[in-house]
Amino acid sequence: MTIPFNKPYLSGNENKYIEQAVNSGKISGDGFFTKSCNHFFESKYNFKKCLLTTSGTAALEMAAILLNIKEGDEVIMPSFTFVSTANAFVLRGAKIVFADTLPNYPCVDVRQIEKLITSKTKVIVVVHYAGIACDMDEVMVVANKHHLKVVEDAAHSIDSFYKNKPLGSIGHLSAFSFHETKNVMCGEGGMLVINDEYYNTRAEIIREKGTNRTQFFNGEVDKYNWVDIGSSYLLSDINAAFLFAQLESIDRIQKRRIEIWNKYFEFLTPLVECDWIKLPQTPYFATNNAHLFYFVCKNNETRNKLLMHLNSLGILAVFHYLPLHTSPYYQNKYHGNELVNTDNFSNCLIRLPLFFEMTNNQVITISNAIKVFFNQET
Ligand SMILES: *Cc1c(COP(=O)(O)O)cnc(C)c1O
Repeated sequence: MTIPFNKPYLSGNENKYIEQAVNSGKISGDGFFTKSCNHFFESKYNFKKCLLTTSGTAALEMAAILLNIKEGDEVIMPSFTFVSTANAFVLRGAKIVFADTLPNYPCVDVRQIEKLITSKTKVIVVVHYAGIACDMDEVMVVANKHHLKVVEDAAHSIDSFYKNKPLGSIGHLSAFSFHETKNVMCGEGGMLVINDEYYNTRAEIIREKGTNRTQFFNGEVDKYNWVDIGSSYLLSDINAAFLFAQLESIDRIQKRRIEIWNKYFEFLTPLVECDWIKLPQTPYFATNNAHLFYFVCKNNETRNKLLMHLNSLGILAVFHYLPLHTSPYYQNKYHGNELVNTDNFSNCLIRLPLFFEMTNNQVITISNAIKVFFNQET
């Protein structure tokens, strides 16, 4: 019997709310359920301005447009991330300057960032890998010192905190994802969070194909017109209806995901004591939202063998990310240093199945399969 890597969870009201959206006769963007989601985010996390988008990628693209990224501008970000973090800025003509992660956990190393800043640098993008916060005080100090903007790629980070502040509320702009692999989701979806109100009006315009249609609907202008660049970044209210059902259950979803995460951690701790693997660390300033469970093997060969072992048992563990700086698309454009820690995580990290409906027995089965592997290895 296989254990999938992920299984989208329906929390109960998804179909009902989609039907309501359909019956309401308003299924394009910014309908009743979009407003309900916005209200949820604003009241639960104190986000000042939320704009639901068609994806996390779209939210990052909006951020790049809002920050006026132009040909030749430099954007510093980790190489150990999903391709959209970089692509959103590459689409605007930016040169991506990749920074290494910390050695002990896969967040970008702020000291490295500072060394990479030049007169062309415009933006720092951080990724809260696995929903574990980067040290945002350090990031903001460096950014402010050099007059740079900060974008949080918060795709992993819903319901996670840095020194009691919700992730996504600290940088100038933040992007969340509600792709079906994320903790709360709607198939495809995302959100731009704006923490600097300077960007509010223009964000609405960019999201509405470069028109001031939102202001028109709010009665602020008497006809709407093409006023800027933009695209169609609004989430359909059908997807927002699905998302709202998930948000209503977020506490229950998070509780169970954290339970599963803690069980993995507990069952695999003996392997750390034998020095076979390294388990994730949560710094004192961060919370863990159980977005994903990973651990790090000693070398690439062991990681690959372990993956094969698990996959042969029907346990669909995976690895990621292939470093962006050595990807087929970017390797010829990258002229920076070797990123030793990035390569190490890419070579040695393994992700285990983690989804709401996993049973405790499945967690035990997987943990035991890992222990059997290491016992045979020695
Ligand atoms: C999922 C993800 C994205 C993109 O989100 P989509 O909604 O799939 O477009 C961006 N960055 C990171 C780190 C992600 O994990």
